[in-house]
Amino acid sequence: MHPTDQTIVAISSPAGSAARAIVRLSGSGAAALADGVFAGADGRPLADVRPFRAVDGVVRPADGIELPARAYVFRAPRSYTRQDLVELHVPGSPAAAAALAARLVERGAVEAAAGEFTARAFFAGRIDLSAAQAVADVINADDDAQLRAAMAGMGGWTHHLCATAAEQLTEVLATVEASIDLADEDIHLAAADELAQALAALAGDLRRTAEGAADVPDSARHVHVVLAGRTNVGKSSLVNALTGADRAIVSAMAGTTRDVLSASLTLDGTAVLLQDAAGFAAAADALAVAADSAARQAVARADVICFVVEAAAPAADRSADAALLGEVRAANPNAPLVLLANKIDLAPDPPRALRAVADELQIEPIAASATTGAGIDAVRAALSQRLKLSAGRSGGALGLHRRQKRCLLAAADAAAQAAGRLAQSADIIDAAEWVAIDVRSALAELGQISGEVVTEDVLGRIFARFCVGK
Ligand code: GDP
Repeated sequence: MHPTDQTIVAISSPAGSAARAIVRLSGSGAAALADGVFAGADGRPLADVRPFRAVDGVVRPADGIELPARAYVFRAPRSYTRQDLVELHVPGSPAAAAALAARLVERGAVEAAAGEFTARAFFAGRIDLSAAQAVADVINADDDAQLRAAMAGMGGWTHHLCATAAEQLTEVLATVEASIDLADEDIHLAAADELAQALAALAGDLRRTAEGAADVPDSARHVHVVLAGRTNVGKSSLVNALTGADRAIVSAMAGTTRDVLSASLTLDGTAVLLQDAAGFAAAADALAVAADSAARQAVARADVICFVVEAAAPAADRSADAALLGEVRAANPNAPLVLLANKIDLAPDPPRALRAVADELQIEPIAASATTGAGIDAVRAALSQRLKLSAGRSGGALGLHRRQKRCLLAAADAAAQAAGRLAQSADIIDAAEWVAIDVRSALAELGQISGEVVTEDVLGRIFARFCVGK
C-alpha cells in the first residue's frame, strides 16, 4: 500500500472484455492527472467540473489514439475513498484501459495495490472493517450462497450487531467505572444482579449469532466431495454424470485413472469440488496406501465421501469393497458417507442386489447408473443433504468469517465472565475492577470485527484478498 497522499490508479473493471472498461484514480491529484489524458467536449478541465457529474469527451491513451470516454468526478470527502476520485469509462478494450492506466502512471499516478481503494475508504472511516471484508467477499464469492452471505455483510449486518453490543457494553463499563469513582459516597447506580443479567443476556446473543451464522470461507475454499471405491466401479463416469460434463477421462480398462481428478459441481447453488480419489483404490488394492499420496489426502480432507460399489458384483468383489470401505473410514472417520450402488442398469434383480450391498456393508445404498443417468438426482440430493447446504449456507443467512466468529465468541466469553463475577457479588463495587477488565476485553474483541482495534496483520490479510482496482 502507498501513503494516502499519493494519487493511485487502477483498472477497476473486471479482466477480460466487457462493454466498457473503467480506469479509476483516487487522491488529491486525481482530476489534474485525468485532465492530462481526457478532453471534455465542452472544453472545461475536470478540476473545474462540479462533483457527481459525468462529462463526455475523449481520452488519449497513447499518442495519436483518441477514444470516446466519459469521466465521473467525485470530490473529497464525498467519495468512496473520501478523496478526490475520477473514473474514466472507455469502450471495453482491455488494451485501451491498460494503455490509459500506464499513461497516467507516466504522468505521476501510482499503480494501486490490490484492495487499496477499499483500504483508503477504511482508513478514512468511510467504511468499517466488516464492510471492507464484505467487499472482498463479494469480489471473491464464487457461488450464490457465499454471495448472499457477503451481501448481508456489506449491508452492515455485522457492523450493526457489533455496534449494538458495543453500546451495551460501554454502558455497563460506564456504570462500573462510576461505581468505582463513587465507592466512598455510598451511591448505588445499579444492582449487581441486574448488570449480571444484562451481561449474561448479551453474552447469549453474541454466542447464538456466532454459532448460527453461515461460514464465509477465508479463501475461496470449496466444499470437497470425494468419490472413493474400487477400480472400475464407475467413479470417473459418475464425475461426468454428476457434473453433466465430459471432464473425466473414462476408460473401460481397470486402473486407468490413478490421480485425483477434480471437477466443479453445483449443489443447491453452492460450488462443490468433486474429486475422484481413484489412486486410493489402486493403492489399497495393493494393500499399500501411501500415507502421503494425493488420493489419501483427498479422502482425509473430504467434507463428504461418496463410496461407490457395483450394484451387482460377485461375492469376492463385495468383500474387497468392505475392506476398502474400512480403509476409507480409517483415513477419514468424521466425514458423512453416501453409499452409491452404481451400474444398477446391469443388475438382473435390482432390489435383491441392493439388499446384498446393504447386508455386506451395513449401509443403505442409493442405486444409480452413470450410464443411463438413473438415480443421479437422488445422489445429488443425498450429497446436498449430507453437506447440509440448504440449512447452513443458503437463504439470507448472516455470514461470518472464522476470525469474526472467534472474536464474537471471545466477546461472549468475556461478557459471561463479567456476568458471573457480578452475580456472585452483593455490590458492583466488590467486583468492579475485574468486571471492567472483562468488559474492556469484550469491547476489544468486538472492535476486531468492526476495525476499531485491529492489528496490521489482520488488515494486511483482509486487503490482500482484493483485486487491484477495488
Ligand atoms: P473407475 O475406475 O471407478 O473410475 O470406473 P470408470 O468410470 O472408468 O468406469 C469403468 C467402466 O464401467 C467403463 O467402461 C464405464 O463405461 C463403465 N460404467 C461406469 N458406470 C456405469 C454404469 O452405470 N452402467 C454401466 N453399464 N457401465 C458403467
